[in-house]
Amino acid sequence: MIMKRKKKLILLSETETIEVNTMKSLLMITHSAGFRHDYLPIAREVVRKLGLESGLFNVVATDECNLLNSEGLKKFDAVLFATTGELPLSDEHKMDFIEAIEGGKGFIGVHNATDTFYKFPEYGKMIGGYFQSHPWTQEVTVIVEDRVHPATRHLPEKFSVKEEVYTFRDWSRERTRVLISLDNSSVDLSKGTRPDNDYALCWCHNYGEGRVFYTAFGHFKELWSEGWFQRHLLNGILWAMNMVE
Ligand SMILES: [Zn+2]
Repeated sequence: MIMKRKKKLILLSETETIEVNTMKSLLMITHSAGFRHDYLPIAREVVRKLGLESGLFNVVATDECNLLNSEGLKKFDAVLFATTGELPLSDEHKMDFIEAIEGGKGFIGVHNATDTFYKFPEYGKMIGGYFQSHPWTQEVTVIVEDRVHPATRHLPEKFSVKEEVYTFRDWSRERTRVLISLDNSSVDLSKGTRPDNDYALCWCHNYGEGRVFYTAFGHFKELWSEGWFQRHLLNGILWAMNMVE
């Protein structure tokens, strides 16, 4: 369901439209304090393009973290992390960032966003869990558990994808809404890391007044050119920015 707003009507796809008042702003952070993925240049291009072509949001994409404080975040409606490691923020600015999400800004985490801020437990709570391991880098089958959410309703019940599959710790489906999970029969489960073998790959939840969307996909740069992934990401961003229900 599209949220009721006034003004301009924008066509999202052949069957979806959205009404908006103003263009929103997205801050995309690609700082890699740990491992640096080679998908980052195309990711920045794709996210900019999604904002521009939809006409719904501007994107500021940067490796710098100097906008992650209460003053810098005022200009943005949501923050997207494609980050690794301990980002260079003071304790005060870390709390500014978390409080901004709690206060109603959107947060979108892509792939290695869960491989970030291990020493800042509040971040782990906000995003929903931490990267634990990547036991399966191969073509896997995934299950679309939620075919109502805007980020997944265009997807079939099951599909195959080549991915570096992340597993998570400090994560529980009781604290989030799982949108996509791994079909365990498509991997060598003996390499798993969780006693419950519950391997979600995309989820979303509210965090205070804010909305949090996380997708574990994105490792291979080829994926960023695929239509399903771009729509998944676009609608995840719009959901996090409170533009779609
Ligand atoms: Zn990766």
